[in-house]
Amino acid sequence: MTENGKPKLAMYWAASCGGCEISVLNIHEHILTVDEIFDIAFFPCIADFKVHHVESYPDGYIDVCLWNGAIRNSEGEHMAHLLRQKSKVMVAYGSCAYEGCIPALSNLTSKEATFNTVYIDNPTIDNPEGIIPLTSVNVPEGELTLPEFYHTVKSLDQVIDVDYYLPGCPPEPPQIWAVLQVIVAGLLEGAPLPPKGSVVGVTNVAVCEECKLKKGEKEISRFYRPYEIVPEPDVCLLEQGIVCMGPATNGGCGALCPQVGIGCRGCYGPLPGVEDQGAKMLSAIASVIGAGEVGMEERELEQRIQAVVDTIPDPAGTFYRFSMAHSLLRRAKVNGSNGKGEAK
Ligand code: SF4
Repeated sequence: MTENGKPKLAMYWAASCGGCEISVLNIHEHILTVDEIFDIAFFPCIADFKVHHVESYPDGYIDVCLWNGAIRNSEGEHMAHLLRQKSKVMVAYGSCAYEGCIPALSNLTSKEATFNTVYIDNPTIDNPEGIIPLTSVNVPEGELTLPEFYHTVKSLDQVIDVDYYLPGCPPEPPQIWAVLQVIVAGLLEGAPLPPKGSVVGVTNVAVCEECKLKKGEKEISRFYRPYEIVPEPDVCLLEQGIVCMGPATNGGCGALCPQVGIGCRGCYGPLPGVEDQGAKMLSAIASVIGAGEVGMEERELEQRIQAVVDTIPDPAGTFYRFSMAHSLLRRAKVNGSNGKGEAK
């Protein structure tokens, strides 16, 4: 706390798109209350703080740190350790920090393949000498350095101790405000905080429970990509063959995506007790595929099921879109990887 009794707030942005920072502004007029309640101690997106300011703070000086972004390079890892040391409460804010999210889909390939796509093979790149970034380059003015890019993307809790998780890509404004209120009540009034390790801002029931679309018996003979079908407005999307992660995803968003005809992508993460969201969804999908008939030969049945599954493009990217780093798989076994999710 400062001398004026205000708790100190930090927010940091690692490997992510920046939507989480914007989501804080999305709490509308409550942002004025945040400004009233907190002193900002570090928030590079909106205020000119430098790392040396954080380094100069005593340990535990920051009351609550909202960390968004996965750990993708040595700078993210360094900042995670630094902010953990300086913060009383560390919140993994948003899907990238919680589970790796889109950055962790690169765990399906290698660091070399990623660099190749970004710096060499991309049709919009003009790089005839095939130059890729180095961590250190000497120029007449001195040494230029860049953080080391890791082979494997990690969630925040795979690098440091995390107190709370606030899922979402990004988290929804009512949930953000509710969570901030709980933390502020705990810090200022001594109200009980949620148990350490809690996933906050969720309803702990599947998105399907929050979804108002009509559900019936599902029997799916093929899947459609969103551009291939105009869905019936009031009917469950999964029943219409649109992949929807609702059965495998924790609620809290109010089923926003299905209400506008887009299948739930799964950004609120797994339900309590589910270790692997992708596997849970695979099991839900398997139970609704209607490809066979009684008495059909096993081989023909397999072929028909395969034909239905083949209508899902990129199954790994679909079912693990947000949760790859936190899944049982963690990464694909490719060159330079032992398949156990090592950092480099
Ligand atoms: Fe569940 Fe999705 Fe169907 Fe809604 S549309 S009931 S979230 S599967």
